[in-house]
Amino acid sequence: MVNFEPAPRDNGLATWACHAAASRGRRRPEPPAPTRSDFQRDRDRIVHSSAFRRLVYKTQVFLNHEGDLFRTRLTHSLEVAQLGRSMAYSLGLNEDLVEAIALAHDLGHTPFGHAGQDALDACMAGHGGFEHNLQSLRVVDKLEQRYPGWDGLNLCFETREGILKRCPLPQARAWETEEPGGVGHRFVAGLQPSLEAQLTNLADEIAYNAHDIDDGVRSGLLTLEMLREVDLFQRFHQETLSDHPDLEGRHPRRLLAEIIRRMLSAQVYDVIASTQQRLARDNPTCADDVRRLPPLVGFSDEMKRSSAELKRFLYRALYRHPQVMATTDAAKQVVGDLFTAYRNGPDELPKDYARSSDPIRALADYIAGMTDRFAIREHQRLTGQRVFPD
Ligand code: MG
Repeated sequence: MVNFEPAPRDNGLATWACHAAASRGRRRPEPPAPTRSDFQRDRDRIVHSSAFRRLVYKTQVFLNHEGDLFRTRLTHSLEVAQLGRSMAYSLGLNEDLVEAIALAHDLGHTPFGHAGQDALDACMAGHGGFEHNLQSLRVVDKLEQRYPGWDGLNLCFETREGILKRCPLPQARAWETEEPGGVGHRFVAGLQPSLEAQLTNLADEIAYNAHDIDDGVRSGLLTLEMLREVDLFQRFHQETLSDHPDLEGRHPRRLLAEIIRRMLSAQVYDVIASTQQRLARDNPTCADDVRRLPPLVGFSDEMKRSSAELKRFLYRALYRHPQVMATTDAAKQVVGDLFTAYRNGPDELPKDYARSSDPIRALADYIAGMTDRFAIREHQRLTGQRVFPD
């Protein structure tokens, strides 16, 4: 007989954390699970969703078929969860909630990363546009079909709040009418999300800055010499070589891994220390207090400058690199052509989508849900063109 006596899950959390037992709950009330907290249950629902499985074949920066060692949206999301949980633990925050938000934060991304989103947004001009944060929430609220009685995963307010990182004001106002005090409220009222949401957002940034360096060097588009113009990189490059002079020239992969490890640690410790200072200054007594205060999770001023410099470098040297831009143009063509092909031939769509009461939005949902390789195959089937080499 399994012992269903639950361990006291919320013990050890700070007063400013989101305690699962004090959750604002689900839009459709459900009895509690016998063995898991509500946030653990949310995480599990996300892991079992079909949108989550598709993240493995979606581009982060490098297209999924360019190599097996590059990050995908799935491995990126796992790295965000790892960084987020480890900082949450030190700050007394709810690790389960951070993990749930991290694993869901990119569910709304189109195939081909930001290029895909921009192309789909352009196709949807005049029909409400397309934005991946809104789409991530739409996936967990509406598009997943796994329950007999409702659409979506019926996640807790706190998980949905964290997933909705940004929201245009008109959209927030519309939701506020539909669901007063819900996830649109903070954008209308100028409030902050929970500390867990703030933390996951920063963990996302720390994760991609680090792994884009790694993938950039692996791809050959970035070199250690180029990276040394970035202060943060240069500092740990020097430190690593003075601790391990034998790495110079002989073990470039180990050298890079060690530099990135040190950069990550420095950023994580900086976030923990700076956030602890702000928490001590403002002394929130509960999660709702946090929502009324200015943002509390963040870097020190110095690390903020270093991180911004690194971001500018990556933008210039990697994201705008001609080789990356070439795939960007091809990706935009695939998404644009798919949109036109389905619009002109709705019979090509799966029946569920073709029968929707809002056919244009259903078309965007269908394209956004595609993996890179499925989009490429569909494009070839519908247009006879091959825009990406095998
Ligand atoms: Mg992300």
